[in-house]
Amino acid sequence: MEREAEVLIVGGGPAGLALALRLGRAGRRTLLVERAPLPRDKVCGEGLMPMGCAALAALGVEPAQLPGHDFHGIEYRGRHRRVALDFPQGAAGRGIRRTVLLAALHARLAGLPAVTQLRDIIVAPLVEGGRVVGARGLRGVYRAAVVAAADGVHSRLAAALGPPLGPLPIARGVRYGVRQHFELGGRPPGERVRVGLFAPHHVYLTPTGPGELLATTMTDAAGFRALRGDYLGFLRATPYGALFEAARPASRRLGWVHPLFEARDHAPGGALLLGDAGGGADPCLGLGISLALLTSARAFASMSAMLEQPLARLDEERAFHEHRRRLFRHYGRFDTVFRRLISTRSGGEILLWALQHWPDTAQQLLRIVGERQPWRTLSWCALAMPWMRWRPPAASRAAGGKQHGRA
Ligand SMILES: Cc1cc2nc3c(=O)[nH]c(=O)nc-3n(C[C@H](O)[C@H](O)[C@H](O)COP(=O)(O)OP(=O)(O)OC[C@H]3O[C@@H](n4cnc5c(N)ncnc54)[C@H](O)[C@@H]3O)c2cc1C
Repeated sequence: MEREAEVLIVGGGPAGLALALRLGRAGRRTLLVERAPLPRDKVCGEGLMPMGCAALAALGVEPAQLPGHDFHGIEYRGRHRRVALDFPQGAAGRGIRRTVLLAALHARLAGLPAVTQLRDIIVAPLVEGGRVVGARGLRGVYRAAVVAAADGVHSRLAAALGPPLGPLPIARGVRYGVRQHFELGGRPPGERVRVGLFAPHHVYLTPTGPGELLATTMTDAAGFRALRGDYLGFLRATPYGALFEAARPASRRLGWVHPLFEARDHAPGGALLLGDAGGGADPCLGLGISLALLTSARAFASMSAMLEQPLARLDEERAFHEHRRRLFRHYGRFDTVFRRLISTRSGGEILLWALQHWPDTAQQLLRIVGERQPWRTLSWCALAMPWMRWRPPAASRAAGGKQHGRA
């Protein structure tokens, strides 16, 4: 089978679906190739940060109208300390089951005749004359003027296009993830995402419904073997035990292997790398879906320009990748420091101690993940100077209440 279109998107996760939606609305002939039935489930913290809520709203999908649960900040907890932080300006994130979010995006594709969806596993890019002109799957060959790799953190396309044109993603190790939703037996799931720093385990508890909590744990290989046996038993043995006393599983337990990664370099004449395929923020920041949505918005603008003016293709491609790297840069620096600190129990406790003792700095730190706009002005000095602390503008203070806002 050989298919041809203006745009080929590999991968139907948040990045691929959001891009397909924009292209379909603009009437661009698009092939969306996904290997699994949609919506595909996978291990994720499922917390859409305020930035992601704004990006989703800009796509015409109101987060508040999707089944889920709002959260207003993050609570970090170790064995001995607990620090609760709220997002600035009353911003809210929303815990939404991944399958619910993807189904909402997928449903909106149904009315767009320009988008053709295909099931196939892409195995390699199609390169002609030093330029990516499509991709080869197990069932067929797909050609397009522009190709987007949105096939996730284990992206075959990005890996194939890495050497010799650009460095490979820097994979310095792997971690393991487990996730399962729980019905809490009448308990409220809380108003913040809870992050348990119990190295080697990091537990993320996201409210995904009025009585539902998603428990996602990242850990090392030995920890993963232990968790696979009795996950609920493991959660009950953490300081969050009381929450899970009457809990019942509300979804399948899933496992996951996650490389440590940084923003990838791009290959000129290659594919646009979207979302996790382009590398970027570590799961510990909970920004992956937000950044996937944001990179797909920028990719849409670049692709439109590339299709209008094929001669400017390389410049546009470079501009997209420069934008993507800038977007990820601050988050990459921040998550490297954060991840190293929380990788040991003492590091986690020191971090919590510091957050307790420097609340202004702690509040500044939460702006990195809690802003409605991407963080561009991170300055480590500013974070350390309490007198630089942020104050909400009078207008939004007066407005109060929670808001998701638009990008
Ligand atoms: C433990 C953990 C917790 C996380 N917590 C959060 C959180 O709280 N909030 C948040 O925003 N993000 C979180 N993330 C990150 C988030 O899950 C990802 O960043 C996000 O899913 C990236 O979207 P994507 O579309 O780029 O890739 P993906 O969602 O991975 O989608 C890629 C798609 O490509 C398909 N595909 C892959 N290979 C091929 C192929 N060869 N051919 C065809 N199709 C293919 C896959 O089937 C998949 O559907 C977490 C991640 C982990 C691991």
